[in-house]
Amino acid sequence: MPETRLSIQGLCRSFDGRRVVDDVSLEVAAGQVTCLLGPSGCGKSTTLRLIAGVERLDAGQIEMCGARVAAPGLHVEPENRQIGLMFQDFALFPHLSVADNVGFGLRGSRAERSARVEEMLGQVNMGRFAAQFPHELSGGEQQRVALARALAPRPAIMLMDEPFSGLDNRLRDEVRDQTLAVLKANGTAVLLVTHEPDEAMRMADEIALMRHGKIVQRGAPYNIYNTPVDKEAAAFFSDIN
Ligand code: ADP
Ligand code: MG
Repeated sequence: MPETRLSIQGLCRSFDGRRVVDDVSLEVAAGQVTCLLGPSGCGKSTTLRLIAGVERLDAGQIEMCGARVAAPGLHVEPENRQIGLMFQDFALFPHLSVADNVGFGLRGSRAERSARVEEMLGQVNMGRFAAQFPHELSGGEQQRVALARALAPRPAIMLMDEPFSGLDNRLRDEVRDQTLAVLKANGTAVLLVTHEPDEAMRMADEIALMRHGKIVQRGAPYNIYNTPVDKEAAAFFSDIN
C-alpha cells in the first residue's frame, strides 16, 4: 500500500453561523488522485483552502505525511506545509520568464535550481519556451508551465482547484490527460476539486462526492457512476456524455 500523504478527519468550518464544511474526512495516498466533486457552492474550495492553510478550521484535524498541521489551537502556515497549489487563474508571474517562473522559490545552488527547472520544463514539454514570457504563451502552454512550477519543489501533496476551467473545451481533455500523466510520473498525492463529473471520471482514482458541506459518497469512479448513493447523485452524473 502506498503511504498516506494527506489525512483529514472531521473537518468543520462555518461562516456567519452557517456550516460550509461539515465533518469532512478523507485520505489521499502517494501517487493517488482523489477528486472532490460536487455542485457549485457545496464547500469544495473552502475544504481545499483549509487544507492549504489559508483558512482556519473550527474543528477536526489535518495531517500531512504523518504530521499534524492543523487542529483547534494548531495552525501550521501554508509555506510550511508540503503542498503545491494550482488554481483556476493559475497566474504565472507576468514579469518573469518561463524558466524563472518555474525556478521561483526553489532552494539549492544555482546549478541545482537550473537543473530542476530544465527537468520540469522537459516533463511538461515546454523546454523550448524557457526564455519566453507568459503573455507569449497560449492558455494550454501557460497551464503546463504552472504545473511545472507547482511540482518543481517536490510537494508531497498537490491541491488543485478547478485547474482546467479557464481552458476552452477544445483543449481541455488533452490538457487533462497531459496533466494526469505528469502528476502520476511525479508520484505526488493529488486532491483535485471540480464540479464536472466527466473530469472526475477521467482523472480520479477515487471520487469523494460532496453536497451541502458533507461527503455523501466515496469510491472508485465507475462504482460511483454505476451505484450512485441516491437520486440526486444519479442526476448529477446523468449529463455525462
Ligand atoms: P465551492 O467551491 O464548492 O463552489 P465554496 O467552498 O467556495 O464552494 O463556498 C461554499 C459556501 O461558503 C458558499 O455559500 C460561499 O458563499 C460560502 N463562503 C465561502 N467563503 C466564504 C467567506 N470567506 N465568507 C463567507 N462565506 C463564504
Ligand atoms: Mg470553488
